[in-house]
Amino acid sequence: MSIADNIKQILGNIEAARLRSPRAAKQVHLLAVSKTKPIEAVTEAWNSGQKWFGENRVQELVPKQEALPDAEWHLIGHLQTNKVKYIIGKTALIHSLDNIGLADEIEKRSAAAGLITDCLVQVNIAEEEQKSGLYVPELASFIDAMADRPHIKIKGLMTIGPVVEDPEDIRPVFSELRRLFEREKARDLPFADFQWLSRGMSHDYHIAVEEGANIVRVGSSIFGARQYN
Ligand SMILES: *Cc1c(COP(=O)(O)O)cnc(C)c1O
Repeated sequence: MSIADNIKQILGNIEAARLRSPRAAKQVHLLAVSKTKPIEAVTEAWNSGQKWFGENRVQELVPKQEALPDAEWHLIGHLQTNKVKYIIGKTALIHSLDNIGLADEIEKRSAAAGLITDCLVQVNIAEEEQKSGLYVPELASFIDAMADRPHIKIKGLMTIGPVVEDPEDIRPVFSELRRLFEREKARDLPFADFQWLSRGMSHDYHIAVEEGANIVRVGSSIFGARQYN
C-alpha cells in the first residue's frame, strides 16, 4: 500500500469511528506524524491532499517546515526550553506544553517575534513517571497561570495514552481527558480557546475518535514502521 492509500484508509476508519459514536466530534483532523521519515515521504502525503504534519523533534521539524512551508507543522514531542527559539513562528501548534519554565520561554520568544503561539497542554492522565505531561490535579492552576503570558494561547489538551495490550483498555483514559477538556472549556477563560483535543495514535486512534478526539496523531500506519539508529 502506498502512503496515499494508507491515508485514504485511515480517513475512512476515522469517519466510520465518528459515525458510530455519539461522543465523537463533528470534524476530526488527521495529523500525519512524519518523524524519522524523509521529506520525500512527506511530499508524497502532501501530494495526496494531507495538510497537517507532526514532528517530535525541533531539529527535524525545522528543515521539513522549510522544505514544505505551505503545510501546517505541529510539534508533538517533548520540547526543551533551549530549543524554543528555533521553532517560534514555524509551528501551527505546540502539543506538548507541560511546565512553567517552558511557558516562560515560549512567552518571551513569542513576544520578541510579535507572535502569539498556540499551544495544547499535555496531560499525563495515567500519571506514568516516565512520561511528560501535567498530572490532573495541577492542570487548572497551570492553565490559570497562562493569564500572565499573553503571547501564549491555550487551544486545548493533548495526551499520550498508556501502552496497553488491548486498545479497549485505553477508553477510560480518553473519556477522562474529554471530561477535563469540557471542564476547562466551560471556564471560558479569555486567554484560552478550547478547540482541540489531541490524542490517539496508530493503534488506538479509532477509540480516541469514538471518545471525542478532534486531532489524531498517526505515524506508522501512514508511513510504515520507524527505524531508529
Ligand atoms: C510518534 C508519535 C505518534 C505517532 O505514533 P504511531 O504509533 O506511529 O502512530 C503520536 N504522538 C506522539 C506524541 C508521537 O511521538
